[in-house]
Amino acid sequence: MKHIFVTGTDTDVGKTHISAALLRGSKSCGDIVSYWKPIQTGFPDSDSATVASRNSAQKIVETSFCYELPASPDQAASYEDKPAPALNVLRDKTFGLANWSIIEGAGGLLVPLNHDNETWIDYLKVVDCSVVLVARSGLGTLNHTMLSLDRLLQSGLHVDLVVLNGPKHDANLDTLKRIYPHQQFAQFFDCSFDHPDFDTFSASLWSDYKVAASSSDQSELINIEWDQQHCWHPFTQHKTAEVPQGLTKASGVWLETSSKERLIDGTSSWWSNTVGHGCKEIGEAIHRQQQTLDHVIFAGATHKGAAELSYRLSRLTSHKLSRVFYTDNGSCAVEVALKMAIQRAHNSGYDSKTKFITLSGAYHGDTFGAMSVSSASDFHKPFASLQFEAIEVKPTTVHASAICPEGVKAYEDSVNELRELFATRHHELAGVIIEPLVQGASGMNVQYVPWLEELCKLAKEYQVTLIFDEVFTGLGRCGDWFAYQRIGLDPDIVCLAKGLTGGTLPLAVTMATEDVFQAFYDQDKKKALYHGHTYTANATCCAAALATLGLYEKHNLISRSQKIEAAFKKWFAEQGERLGLSNPRAVGAIAAWEIPGSGLGDYYNPLATKVPVIARKHGLFLRPLGNTMYFVPPLTISDHELDFAISALTASIEELCEV
Ligand code: PMP
Repeated sequence: MKHIFVTGTDTDVGKTHISAALLRGSKSCGDIVSYWKPIQTGFPDSDSATVASRNSAQKIVETSFCYELPASPDQAASYEDKPAPALNVLRDKTFGLANWSIIEGAGGLLVPLNHDNETWIDYLKVVDCSVVLVARSGLGTLNHTMLSLDRLLQSGLHVDLVVLNGPKHDANLDTLKRIYPHQQFAQFFDCSFDHPDFDTFSASLWSDYKVAASSSDQSELINIEWDQQHCWHPFTQHKTAEVPQGLTKASGVWLETSSKERLIDGTSSWWSNTVGHGCKEIGEAIHRQQQTLDHVIFAGATHKGAAELSYRLSRLTSHKLSRVFYTDNGSCAVEVALKMAIQRAHNSGYDSKTKFITLSGAYHGDTFGAMSVSSASDFHKPFASLQFEAIEVKPTTVHASAICPEGVKAYEDSVNELRELFATRHHELAGVIIEPLVQGASGMNVQYVPWLEELCKLAKEYQVTLIFDEVFTGLGRCGDWFAYQRIGLDPDIVCLAKGLTGGTLPLAVTMATEDVFQAFYDQDKKKALYHGHTYTANATCCAAALATLGLYEKHNLISRSQKIEAAFKKWFAEQGERLGLSNPRAVGAIAAWEIPGSGLGDYYNPLATKVPVIARKHGLFLRPLGNTMYFVPPLTISDHELDFAISALTASIEELCEV
């Protein structure tokens, strides 16, 4: 059962009155509700006292933050030199409440609660509350009600009921109903608590609320039949697949399922979410941009967002990768990189250079070029004859892995093979494409850096374009802006996608050095890169990406990623052996290990299918890669949430393997 949050369009619109009426009404219907005023400014505890005096049988929860100064909580706290209400404290206290409480806000929705500028809107996004908005019924209500309502709706919040409090004003009610045809409204006649009809009005308000709340609960339901009859899900054999997990909300690191479980997003929503879900900064940027300039052609035209994003991305590479080409997803970013490498050779007069070196276990996406440079798998079999040939080499990994069972012992032989390969076939090679440092889809395999260094040295020596697919490893995932920076290498082309918009909108880039660009820069029009997509450099996506970069700075997410790595390593050191984790490894905000007792490449291990089910019981959303379990959270995960996640991982493994 949800809590009910009572807020107002302004101060003094009658929030306390309506809270007391809801409490009274619920009592007369036999529903059990408690009341909590988390923050009181003005006269200490006055609202709680008022409500208590009218509803003696119901529980009044003690106010958590009291200030005497009648001001916004941030100002009152500063003035009285007391701690200001912090969102995480309010959230934790809310989780601790008995079921079904009426929570009354202080002031209006956007009043700052503290000097981090957190507001009730931020609070509502992290707790499970049904919202009741109290507004005046008479003059001045239209503008105030619409401002508050719009703000709530734009923040993705559902308003169950708008209560117009005060003398009946049919014209205002009609106007609001016309403007918000799907919104539920109720009228409450501003009668005093002692009025003989207060009980009757309260019972009627409560019943309006219950009808409104149940209809909005219905509107949030996922129609699974429509899904099953009309959706074609990725990587899914529909005949044998379970019904997919319905997800209804996402906020911060948390996902909410249709059965109201709250789970930490342990896959960062297919590795895309770096900044947490539902960030208001990104939402506002998207909204503003869409209203200003949503999308325009990017050939023969440009816009502010693309220019600024290109500059900022280039700056992150110290302007080494100074040219930014836009697409919409990781696979396309890879296609562009491959075309750049081949055409670079062609434009420079080397038509025989058309082949790519790729790594065993590589995954670069699902379009034809990307499949061709990915490791052959059952998924690609039907298309095998249509793919172009790539030269696969075995990377050396720091741990024993399915792609390198000997681990670092393979180094010498592997390097000799590489040298031989470049020496004999360099005239055929257009490029080398790798996922640097961590190969994600093959099982979070961590490469041995000296081996990578040798590969890159050879590519430079033989002038073979070096492509780093950082779709997964880039943008802080590996503890630096890019994996290549962490290991001090020097790629010619870098592909980025996933985290670029923080996990909100599809956007990808292929970044190239000036050297690569110069091979296309010519009077000869045929030397241009003839590639483009309708949504290239979509302005709304660029705005989301710029807001995302702002959040990286604001929350210092690169150092956060390093701290997450340290927490994973501590967990491995303390619990790894007891839990029997095999090959535990952590790089930035990536932790991985093989299911205890399973072998290398044991992709179809029966325990793997149990992992998501068990993890869910412990509050985690996980999706293992065969017998490789991994945890890849948004970089914004707090210390508290990380502790929770690590305990939940421990409990999940204990249950899975009966440790
Ligand atoms: N490259 C890598 C390294 C990836 O991990 C992925 C996706 N997991 C892709 C490319 C393809 O990206 P997209 O799914 O956006 O096409």
